[in-house]
Amino acid sequence: MALYVYKFGGTSVGSVDRIQKVADKIKQARDLGHQIVVVVSAMSGETNRLVDLANAVQTEVNPREIDVLLSTGEQVTMALLSMALQAKGCLARSYTGSQIKILTDENHTKARIEAIDKHILQADLAQGYVPVIAGFQGVTANGTITTLGRGGSDTTAVALAATLNADECHIYTDVDGVYTTDPRIEPKARRLDKITFEEMLEMASLGSKVLQIRAVEFAGKYNVALRVLSSFKAGNGTLITYDEESNMEAPLISGIAHNRDEAKLTLTGVPDLPGIASKILSPIADANIEIDMIIQNVASDKNTDFTFTVHRNDYAKAFKVLEQIKHDLGAKAVIGDDKIVKVSIIGVGMRSHAGIASTMFKALADENINIEMISTSEIKISVVVDEKYLELAVRTLHAAFKLDQINS
Ligand code: ADP
Ligand code: ASP
Ligand code: MG
Repeated sequence: MALYVYKFGGTSVGSVDRIQKVADKIKQARDLGHQIVVVVSAMSGETNRLVDLANAVQTEVNPREIDVLLSTGEQVTMALLSMALQAKGCLARSYTGSQIKILTDENHTKARIEAIDKHILQADLAQGYVPVIAGFQGVTANGTITTLGRGGSDTTAVALAATLNADECHIYTDVDGVYTTDPRIEPKARRLDKITFEEMLEMASLGSKVLQIRAVEFAGKYNVALRVLSSFKAGNGTLITYDEESNMEAPLISGIAHNRDEAKLTLTGVPDLPGIASKILSPIADANIEIDMIIQNVASDKNTDFTFTVHRNDYAKAFKVLEQIKHDLGAKAVIGDDKIVKVSIIGVGMRSHAGIASTMFKALADENINIEMISTSEIKISVVVDEKYLELAVRTLHAAFKLDQINS
């Protein structure tokens, strides 16, 4: 008998019929004698619908209230799934984040989990109940509802698996595992049997929305055995493994990620003096804007162009900040582009092999795709390109690294 945390994403609970199928899956595991804790997302499209409603009512949405609003989506599915389980003769009880005391900090819309009270869950499990928990939400020490950021139900599931010391955490979704790239963009993408934790962390942080990055971080920190599987199709899915040795035969590149949420800003003609980077980026940080890539190049006239990328949602705000500091810094102009994307190749094999970057750049050049920015780390190379090239760039790189031929 094992203890599993099962998480079902939006599409998997997107209709009454699908909720019934999810209930059947849980009942099957219970009938085999396993203990199951369930985490659910809101029905597909629901969180977006709620965001739209909020935006229609308030220009700058109040963080406390948006969390109250968004948390309702998961509350609907947790109750419906509990009812479906009960109707099938399976003992079940639903809980919101605050009922189960998923304690978070006060950072609304992207709160971090600080602690989870496991006593209610353990008591339920001991009595043969399936606790069904609303994902994506928590509560602060003073009782205010918080949410964990988009895709946050993954993190709820992994955090619960860590707290309860579960045997495995299963993320059930609308694909049957982690693929070499998003199968919606490249139909030739291949499912990976295994992916190293480090690669998964890079994939998630570089835009692969199949797992929320915080969920992967949590899994790594607490050594949670994590698997991504299909809600609809039988199979073993993809195991996130911590053991690089077992992946020795793995290809150089395991995956390609893309991120459409980027925007680029450039301050031109900045005097090349010590402290200039800090003078540009401090006001950006003070405006609570996170920076991703940075490029600074010294031109012959001792002036420099300073370019960086931010989340597209922060583009207008960042532009304003640069306009305000432009004169004090003695810079020429602010230029921006919010029609860019970041495409990245990821693989632990990169550590020990040369020539990966040149293969990447040549493949893109052969398709006439202009690279606007580049950044690298030990196991990834990212490029920024015009958003119109997103699909072409992903498919070109998938073919260049022969990812369609991976035997998983
Ligand atoms: P859920 O609602 O179940 O949480 P998500 O939409 O958050 O599902 O995540 C699943 C989706 O992630 C897939 O439908 C797929 O389009 C996308 N995705 C992006 N990159 C990958 C990848 N490398 N492997 C698998 N799916 C990916
Ligand atoms: N419902 C939330 C979202 O759409 C959380 C999740 O699905 O994980 O982002
Ligand atoms: Mg998700």
